Amino acid sequence: MLNIIFMGPPGAGKGTQATRIVDEFKIPHISTGDMFRENISKGTPLGLQAKAIIESGRLVPDEVTCAMVKDRLAKDDCANGYLLDGFPRTLPQAEELEKIGKELGRPVTVVVDLAVPDEVLVSRIAGRRVCPNCGASYHIDTMKPKVEGVCDRCGGKLIQRKDDNAESFKERLKNYYESTAPIAEYYKAKGNYSAVNGNANAELIFENIKTVLKGIK
Ligand code: AMP
Repeated sequence: MLNIIFMGPPGAGKGTQATRIVDEFKIPHISTGDMFRENISKGTPLGLQAKAIIESGRLVPDEVTCAMVKDRLAKDDCANGYLLDGFPRTLPQAEELEKIGKELGRPVTVVVDLAVPDEVLVSRIAGRRVCPNCGASYHIDTMKPKVEGVCDRCGGKLIQRKDDNAESFKERLKNYYESTAPIAEYYKAKGNYSAVNGNANAELIFENIKTVLKGIK
């Protein structure tokens, strides 16, 4: 069963690769960042709570995030696999996910960690454009859409994320090294962890991820 966690620093290419993987393996893409952004744009109570936190690059509290993920993983479309993108981001979230997975009978089966040097991340984030409708990512120089400003996948209008600025990025990277990177050790100890070089072209990275996933299926 492909119950996947996608790890990696902001700008590692998680969103880009996640889109390819869910299209190929027909599993739902569960991006906690996308879920928060959707709540923000709809003005829900959760969105109101999360907006300032997200725009400054800080992490939403674990309880709030875990409750949202639990509801999502319980949905019928996760019965045959799922891809978690951007969750877990802290050790308590990883521990809670373990419980949720057991409770739902949907435990994580594979962890893919995309490794990219910091200096590459900075330029990827600065030029990133995203589709708020389907979550696809582009880059103004290295991964242009066919028609400028328009999503290839769904026709949505591309935007720049509010937290893709130098100051929020610094905060996100700091959070990543302090809170998220240590989770790799947690999964390495469980033996279902694979690091993939994310500093290559998107095609090659996708091929390498597929090789890891095919070992699981
Ligand atoms: P992302 O789209 O994954 O880069 O997430 C954007 C922002 O949403 C993050 O910088 C956090 O503020 C928030 N966020 C997303 N996932 C989580 C999580 N697992 N825990 C806490 N905050 C999160």
